Parts: sequence; C-alpha cells; structure tokens
Amino acid sequence: METKSFNAFKMAQQQFDHAADILELDEATRDFLRNPMREFHFNISITMDDGSKKIFRGFRSMHNDSRGPAKGGIRFHPQETIDTVRALSMWMTWKTSVADIPLGGGKGGVICDPHNLSLREQEQICRGWVRQIYKNVGPFTDIPAPDVMTNPQHMLWMLDEYETISGQKQPGFITGKPVGMGGSLGRTEATGYGVIITVREALKKLKLKTKDTTMSLQGFGNVSQYAIELYTQMGGKVICVSCWDQKDQKSYSFKKESGIELSELQGITDQFGGIDKEKAKDLGYEVLDGNVWLEQDVDILVPAALENQITQENANKISSRVKIISEGANGPTTPDADKVIKDKGIFMIPDFLANAGGVICSYFEQVQCNMNYFWSKDEVLGKLDQKMTFAFNAVTQFADKHDLYMRDAAYIIAVERVSKACKSRGWV
Ligand code: GLU
Repeated sequence: METKSFNAFKMAQQQFDHAADILELDEATRDFLRNPMREFHFNISITMDDGSKKIFRGFRSMHNDSRGPAKGGIRFHPQETIDTVRALSMWMTWKTSVADIPLGGGKGGVICDPHNLSLREQEQICRGWVRQIYKNVGPFTDIPAPDVMTNPQHMLWMLDEYETISGQKQPGFITGKPVGMGGSLGRTEATGYGVIITVREALKKLKLKTKDTTMSLQGFGNVSQYAIELYTQMGGKVICVSCWDQKDQKSYSFKKESGIELSELQGITDQFGGIDKEKAKDLGYEVLDGNVWLEQDVDILVPAALENQITQENANKISSRVKIISEGANGPTTPDADKVIKDKGIFMIPDFLANAGGVICSYFEQVQCNMNYFWSKDEVLGKLDQKMTFAFNAVTQFADKHDLYMRDAAYIIAVERVSKACKSRGWV
C-alpha cells in the first residue's frame, strides 16, 4: 500500500536499477524494463444490494510478456493504487523468469474491501472487471489468478464472464480456479508450501535441522496457513503469528511458546485470515501488539502479509537469533531494511523466489487445462518441489560464486533472462 513515504513502484524500480547497474544494461533495455509495457485503468459500475449504484476503480498492468503471456493475480484491497499494481506486475516478471516458466508478468487490482461487500456484490465486481478488460486479456495474452483477498470462487466468476462473452470454453484464461472446475490440485497449497521448500533448502545449506528451529510469521491468510502446515509437518515449531483485525483496524500477534496449533487457530479465523482475539485467549494464546511478530527470538521469519513491512525503522528489532527470512508476501522488505538484514548476516530468500510456488502451480494448472487431463496432487506437488528447488539452487549457487546478497543474485538471473528475451525479439 502507498503511504506518504512509501511507494512500491519506486521501490521496484530502485531494485531493478541496482540489478541493471550490476548487469551494465544498455539504456533502451533499462527504459523498457523500468515501466510496464501497457496498463489499463477503468471504472466498474455495480448495482449494490440496496439498489444504489457504486463505481469501483479497476486496474491491470502488464509489465512484460517477452518470455510468454503476462501472468499474475488480481488483488481486492481498499488501499489499492496503480503504482502498487505496477510494482507487483514488475515483480511477477522477475518471478516467472527466476522460476524459468514460459510466462511474463502482470497484476491487477480493484479498490474495494470485500469485508464490506456481499457475495453478490463481489460477483458483480468480478464480472465487471472482466467486461472492462476482456479484449486485452486471455489465455495467450495475459492470465489472471488469485492474490490478496481474492479466491477460487472469484476466479470462477471471472472465467464464467469471459467464456460467456467469448462464447467458448477457455479454462486457460485464469488460474487458481476451484478443483473440479478447471483448477489444479495443490494450487491452493502451492505458495505456502513453496515458501517452506525454500526454507528447507536454506536450512540444509546452513546445516540446521528443521526440528531444532522455530518460526514467526506475519499474516494468517492462504500463504501463511499452508506455510505453517508444511513447516510443522516437517517438525518445526511456529511460536508466533500476526494478523489484521478488521474491527480494530490494526494487527495483533498471537503467541504460544509451546507452539501454535494450526487447526485450533483455523477454527477461530474468518475467511480473510482474521483471528478472533477472545477465543484465542481462551485457547491459551498471548495476544500482543501486531508488530512483535518481527521481534521474536526465532530462527526463521516469514513475512506473509503485504508490502512495506520490514523497514529501516523496525529492521534493527530483528533478534540476533534469526538466521533465515523467507518472504511469502510480495515486497515486504524495503531496500533500506535490506542493508540492515545483510549486515546482520541473515540468509534472505527474496519474495519473487520464495513465493514463486503459486505461479509455478498456476502454470501447471494451465498445462493441465490445455491437455484436459488433470494430475494427482502428489504429481503436482512433486513437480512444484522440483521447480522450486531448482530455482533456489540456481540462485544460491550464483550468489555464492559471485559473493552476492540473495536478492541481488535472484534479480540478476531474472533480469538477464528477460532482457535477453527482449533483445532477441528486437524490442531493445
Ligand atoms: N498472486 C500470486 C503471486 O503473486 C500468484 C500469481 C499467479 O498464479 O499467476 O505470485
């Protein structure tokens, strides 16, 4: 989200400029990659349940499609801005590139708060979004998916609108659909599981055993819940998780030294990942200020909420025990905070590598839709593990060889692939 001092797009450009300097990219390539190739802004007009008309602002940014159709989620958020969408579309370009899947980078958004919208109103927004952008998206152009506060049901409404307009079944138009309706088994789990696959590989590299480690996470949405599931299955202990409280408009941390119980918390959580404070207290959780998730004496931190969460102001509060940060969210760490983290010697697994599991599985979903043949969950998750591990190893080997911070190594690999594709197409 944008604040007076924070702009995600400026941050994404700053990160890109740093990689471009290291790669000594020519001016045309820099100019081409510093901005989205194209973007759309539009009004979505809805009849609300009370009969009144309301206008919602929608966006889609296609940052780059040199390596394949643009790909990326659609966010529903009251503080959405075009600059945030631009940044996120740019990060998608690097994500599909570092994961080496034949897709580009896109992102969409609608300024709205699903907490305050009925399902019928949400359906109208989904259908309205597709009606406005129909001509410019599609299975071979730009493929949407779920993101913050959007889910498989939203994807299905969007698909239905797209197919109604086109008069054809086109399941490859969108990913993250419900299983049985063109969705892939494992897609819901993919981002959170992927985050933990990178943690598993990092622990191996640092010669640590998962069962001797602890974790604290920010956010209790889809990514965080599946990250907790896999990490605890592997023997790790999560002691703290924070989430947004819609009623109080602030976040709280939920802590249990003996280890949080995922299913117990899921039982008292709403569909947006908001945990009921009173019920959590009854279950023996300490309910603390939202920011303390970052200050915990743990081995692993997983920011899995929104951008701009680990900043110059709070990075110094990270405990000296922390050895790994794996970024489940997109853009959670600012460049200033990166410097502090680097100085602390923490092993950083950057967002577009750590959370690439979602889009990797989206790619599998498209492949399965094209074949009209769906794989077992084990097959999907096995292929996900292979892709994530391969990408992680490529980045760590490059970082080790050139003595680079992990984020820089990931950027160099990703930007180089995209700039080569743009060059060989004759665009720059
Ligand atoms: N929204 C997810 C992301 O940021 C998934 C994108 C996709 O599957 O296309 O990576």
